[in-house]
Amino acid sequence: MTASASASASRDLTVTEVRLTPVLVADPPLLNTQGVHQPYTPRLIVEVVTAGGITGLGETYGDTKYLELARPLADRLLGHRVDDLNRLFAEADQVAVDAARVSGQVDVGGLRGVQTADKLRLSVLSALEVACLDALGKSLGLPVHALLGGKVRDAVEYSAYLFYRWAEHPEGVTAEKDDWGAAVDPAGVVEQARRFTERYGFTSFKLKGGVFPPEEEIAAVRALAAAFPGHPLRLDPNGAWSVETSLKVAKELGDVLEYLEDPTLGTPAMAEVAAGTEVPLATNMCVTTFAEIKEAFTRDAVQVVLSDHHYWGGLRNTRHLAAICRTFGVGVSMHSNTHLGISLAAMTHVASTVPNLHHACDSHYPWQSEDVLTERLAFEGGTVRVPDAPGLGVELDRDRLAFLHRRWLDDDGALRDRDDAAAMRIADPSWTQPAVPRW
Ligand SMILES: [Mg+2]
Repeated sequence: MTASASASASRDLTVTEVRLTPVLVADPPLLNTQGVHQPYTPRLIVEVVTAGGITGLGETYGDTKYLELARPLADRLLGHRVDDLNRLFAEADQVAVDAARVSGQVDVGGLRGVQTADKLRLSVLSALEVACLDALGKSLGLPVHALLGGKVRDAVEYSAYLFYRWAEHPEGVTAEKDDWGAAVDPAGVVEQARRFTERYGFTSFKLKGGVFPPEEEIAAVRALAAAFPGHPLRLDPNGAWSVETSLKVAKELGDVLEYLEDPTLGTPAMAEVAAGTEVPLATNMCVTTFAEIKEAFTRDAVQVVLSDHHYWGGLRNTRHLAAICRTFGVGVSMHSNTHLGISLAAMTHVASTVPNLHHACDSHYPWQSEDVLTERLAFEGGTVRVPDAPGLGVELDRDRLAFLHRRWLDDDGALRDRDDAAAMRIADPSWTQPAVPRW
């Protein structure tokens, strides 16, 4: 084969294989209003392989309902090119979703908003899209941000994601250990924040709330404000409060909060809170689909939308969302669920292309001691440098992938679907999912 024939063969963008590998990844005992993170959490690693021998990487939720959709959606890529994404998305609704998997309602205390068939599909499509863009970038010698029109910043700022937490998972539970220690009071939260700044240089702080009564969480944010004067602070109780409680917290913390995140559940209640306070409200719960935008924006219920490329359906949809937010004068930033380095790279690429991103993004990544990459992404000065290598700029460690997949295979099913309430019941057998509003 001549050199030019070889080059054009390597540019054959036809998808010949899509590998789907569920894994279980170590997760510390982080507390939220539903309960506590389980010791291992499921993720799905996607590899899209082209006829030219290029492999692109993607990552999304690994719970059963996503795995069930991943194979039929992935099969729709086979024989098509990695740059044939609009067709894939247009045809996705031909893949049926088990009705039992969607309620059309926000599950009580649910952390990711409304559940719909579309949103489930988009959550899987996002990983396929990212993998296709990674493969396309590698084939063309271009970073993913270039495929999205180019970066407008060289580094993306992230916030320290503070959690109330135990030092360890309950006795008798198989789990990995870490050296963070417990944080169950204001002093513990401040100590955790100090370690975040020392290790990673973060300057914005978000506390996951809804765990303790509001007065205790107000005290923790006050302690943060005293320890880090002038730094942006956020509190996110995942909709655990009534309108009245939300307004009380907003009043007490109004002078130090950058924004209050999902204090209460649903657009009507958020609109009521927004009407009664100057503190901006952010959400990753009442605006999580394009269908929810109109009501929330016209009622001025939210001032910042926290995008998540997983459930919004990928990097291109994230840019569409950012454009709509800009049109309505609504801010945009980024939500995070437990994720690995493939998704952090994807988040960083798309965040680098959004001009109206004026808040540090959230990321759980510092809590994840395990990854499937040969080299972890690094936070420096609270930022991740935007990779300029072709594709996402990350490389899969096959041994690590196999190890984490083996853990998933060996699991008896107890950990294959994230269930924070079940994890809490191990420590407290009387625990039930709290009714909302909890306070
Ligand atoms: Mg949130």
